[in-house]
Amino acid sequence: MAFELPKLNYSYDALEPHIDARTMEIHYSKHHAGYTSKLNAAIEGTSDEGKSIEDIISAGNLSAAVRNNGGGFYNHSLFWDIMSPNGGGTPTGELAEKINEAFGSFEEFKTEFSNAAATQFGSGWAWLCYKNGKLEVCSTPNQDNPIMQEGCGGTPILGIDVWEHAYYLNYQNRRPDYINAFFNVVDWNRVAEHMNNAK
Ligand code: MN
Repeated sequence: MAFELPKLNYSYDALEPHIDARTMEIHYSKHHAGYTSKLNAAIEGTSDEGKSIEDIISAGNLSAAVRNNGGGFYNHSLFWDIMSPNGGGTPTGELAEKINEAFGSFEEFKTEFSNAAATQFGSGWAWLCYKNGKLEVCSTPNQDNPIMQEGCGGTPILGIDVWEHAYYLNYQNRRPDYINAFFNVVDWNRVAEHMNNAK
């Protein structure tokens, strides 16, 4: 079974004004679709065929094609899922407790996550990861990912894409403005579900 571009649960314009419709359309239908088809081409006829994306990208010694496109497939699948037009606000319950435990407060977490996203040089991602019962912030270049052997470890439960294709049409070089706006669309209920799945 080849990998399929996961369905978006909202329309391209649903995250406006924080993420504009044109960016969403190109990002999903061109970039993510491209990673998906190139991942399928890279694993066709290999022992990776039929494996889960997690098993494929965590295996180590990845070819450039699997590392870039497998990472791109996984990372964007998480990214769309943890955003919602009904997002924003602050986490509750166990997720809030884990954030307070790891960072002191939600505001301090936000500062650390935003800083990781702003200072990732060039293209890449910043992450909130669940690792050994605790939460951590890290960042990775290109389409690398925490679960890759080349990554920063743990299971990502929240990620922000800081490739220019994710924000340049609306924000140009103002990456920090995009990062601030991103918090208005984070679906903390989904992030909490990803944390539960990571246990
Ligand atoms: Mn992207």
